Amino acid sequence: MTDVVVVGGGVIGLSIAWELVRHGVSVKLLDQGAFGREASWAGAGILPPGNPDSASHPYDRLRGESCRLWPEWSAELLELTGIDNGFLNCGGIEIRLAGSSDQLDDLADAWRQEHITAERLDRNELLELEPALNPSAVVGLRLPEKCQVRNPRHTKALLAALASAGVELLPGEPVTELIHENGRIVAARTSNGEHVAGQFVVAAGAWSRRLLAACGADVTIEPVRGQIVLLETQPLPFTHIIGLGARYLVPRPDGRVLVGATEEWVGYCKQNTADAVAGLIRFAQDLVPGLAAAKFADCWSGLRPGAGDGLPYLGPVPGNDNLFVAAGHFRAGVQLSPGTAVLIRQLVLGQDLMLPLETFACDRVERTQEAIPSAH
Ligand SMILES: Cc1cc2nc3c(=O)[nH]c(=O)nc-3n(C[C@H](O)[C@H](O)[C@H](O)COP(=O)(O)OP(=O)(O)OC[C@H]3O[C@@H](n4cnc5c(N)ncnc54)[C@H](O)[C@@H]3O)c2cc1C
Repeated sequence: MTDVVVVGGGVIGLSIAWELVRHGVSVKLLDQGAFGREASWAGAGILPPGNPDSASHPYDRLRGESCRLWPEWSAELLELTGIDNGFLNCGGIEIRLAGSSDQLDDLADAWRQEHITAERLDRNELLELEPALNPSAVVGLRLPEKCQVRNPRHTKALLAALASAGVELLPGEPVTELIHENGRIVAARTSNGEHVAGQFVVAAGAWSRRLLAACGADVTIEPVRGQIVLLETQPLPFTHIIGLGARYLVPRPDGRVLVGATEEWVGYCKQNTADAVAGLIRFAQDLVPGLAAAKFADCWSGLRPGAGDGLPYLGPVPGNDNLFVAAGHFRAGVQLSPGTAVLIRQLVLGQDLMLPLETFACDRVERTQEAIPSAH
């Protein structure tokens, strides 16, 4: 019998399967569609810095642990599969185009409390570092340890590693029910039959709520649409990831620039809208005026799995001895994926946990998003 069935093959399910199989656990991975083609394909691949030793909130520790793992995982996957996931330490700059010059000071303090380098830049320093930026920018905050990854390449590398490790990969296999008997899940039901295993993990992203509700867990995960515009320009006019609040520009070394992203509560609708695409293009030109001449290459959207308080659900599903959840990573599922995988492996194998799980529990009392201590 398979040790673990993982439901959902986005970056979270793929990473969990990878972490389990290389610790000797046999895994079957089921996805309702193609692997890695939902939010995990659509995302921008921004990986903020972290420091597990000095972070106090469990969410920040999870980010820190993940940061530590990204270079290792990227190198291992490259060696095993020959696929370069594009992991790159390009640095990032948060900027403001108007207002007072001290408005990023609190953010700088939050990073420094984690002992992460955060350099405040005045207008002259900003323009010296990135001359293509809008010259009216008033202040910037540079995070030299910010990284990026090419999500589609990373999930491709994970899939190749799983295939070579003998994981049973079943795309086009929607799980309709987790069959519950005497406080345990005995099988995952799909239209093709029942998949029996010793333990089960739900990593179904924005689709996790219905599956978990049928197991008695009331998680608040909803789809949150994020639209992205892709521009192309040679040579690249800037090299750092440029952020302004929830929106950003990500420069890829091959001349692509990702302009993201919207946050929209519109159910499971993935279409791009004229208004959002126009707004993202205006935003890009506001930050880097020279992008007005860039080629419009593409646009797309994805459905982030967003919980009411912005935190993921990680851990056991109450009332089910052998069922775990890893879903609801909202805007941070790519960055948090290696740490999430390690945590779930520790749970599945009954090992000591690297951080406490109460914050991420299915039955936690949710706070508002503003209450999350991490400013990032
Ligand atoms: C525009 C955009 C930009 C983003 N940028 C970033 C970023 O820069 N950095 C970052 O860290 N994160 C980013 N994110 C967020 C990140 O992409 C998500 O948090 C992450 O991809 C979630 O991964 P997941 O595996 O949980 O979900 P998904 O990738 O959505 O995967 C869930 C999988 O479960 C499958 N599934 C669902 N229901 C079932 C079922 N019943 N049976 C079988 N399979 C099922 C689906 O088909 C899907 O493949 C971004 C997201 C978007 C949309």
